[in-house]
Amino acid sequence: MKMILLGPPGAGKGTQAKGIAARYGIAHISTGDMLRAEVREGTPLGREAKSYMDKGQLVPDEVIIGMVKNRIAAPDCEKGFLFDGFPRTIAQAEALEKITDIDRVVDIEVPDERLIARISGRRMCPLCGATYHVSTYGSDKCSCGGVLYQRDDDRAETVAVRLTEYHKKTAPLIDYYAQKGKLLTVNGDAPVDAVADEIARELDA
Ligand code: AMP
Repeated sequence: MKMILLGPPGAGKGTQAKGIAARYGIAHISTGDMLRAEVREGTPLGREAKSYMDKGQLVPDEVIIGMVKNRIAAPDCEKGFLFDGFPRTIAQAEALEKITDIDRVVDIEVPDERLIARISGRRMCPLCGATYHVSTYGSDKCSCGGVLYQRDDDRAETVAVRLTEYHKKTAPLIDYYAQKGKLLTVNGDAPVDAVADEIARELDA
């Protein structure tokens, strides 16, 4: 099972990806999480990526493609994998096609005005990557013990750039995968469990 989760920043891709990957026993591959780990470790790749991420811009395709190629060669990807946040451009999708075949693409749709509220209230755990929303979670500690923080690129100034990048460069992938007959669309403007149920129904159908 090789899948892609598409959707704008704040659509809930990370949250849903964890559930889907666990359900199918496949690896969850978040290029955003991989890049943040590189930034934390201060690697050359992390230093290059950070300059784009801080501005809300996409990291260059060749950096991402190289990183993904290595990742899917790992043993935990043998049974399949779910991409969360990749591909984000047509060039990335075309490069991916040369490396492997994708079975399904799930597009989580949420209107822009909802995304801004979701992203600005989002808090993340530096240890396990879990995300919470200030409106529904009253603590500053993750269930794993990590102290929650706000991602630099979740601040209002950067969110606008990320949404523009999404509409210009990533949204064309919806048509791209629809034309290949691989696209499933779910309404992401609903409670987490309802979205998870809709995704499961679509995938089982
Ligand atoms: P995310 O955690 O998926 O929202 O990603 C955070 C940031 O990492 C994005 O705003 C981009 O700067 C960068 N990024 C993550 N995945 C990709 C990708 N597939 N292509 C380009 N940039 C990416």
